[in-house]
Amino acid sequence: MFFIIFGTRSTKHKSTKLENFTCQTCNSQDTSFISGKSKYFSIFWIPLFPLGKSATTYCSDCQTSSSAKFLKPELKPKRPIWHFTGIMLFIAFEIGNTIFILSQNMHLLN
Ligand SMILES: [Zn+2]
Repeated sequence: MFFIIFGTRSTKHKSTKLENFTCQTCNSQDTSFISGKSKYFSIFWIPLFPLGKSATTYCSDCQTSSSAKFLKPELKPKRPIWHFTGIMLFIAFEIGNTIFILSQNMHLLN
């Protein structure tokens, strides 16, 4: 019997301070932080490909949090590179396989 363990998992991003950002509720400057999380699909706990991503802003002055949907993309937290592990493994396998097939064909030509 063979089991395939798969599902979705998520990673929380570290909360970082937003520089030169004004809170839309209390108009305080440089009191807002951004945090978020990214989801990915995994097989045997190995991240295969990324799924959704969400972020929220939090003001330490007025304690208000709101969705970071309308923030500029460069202000939003970046997805960790290891969420693409499955895709990178697949590409590495395909390159290795292509090189192997080409070397086999070169052997036949000589
Ligand atoms: Zn505020």
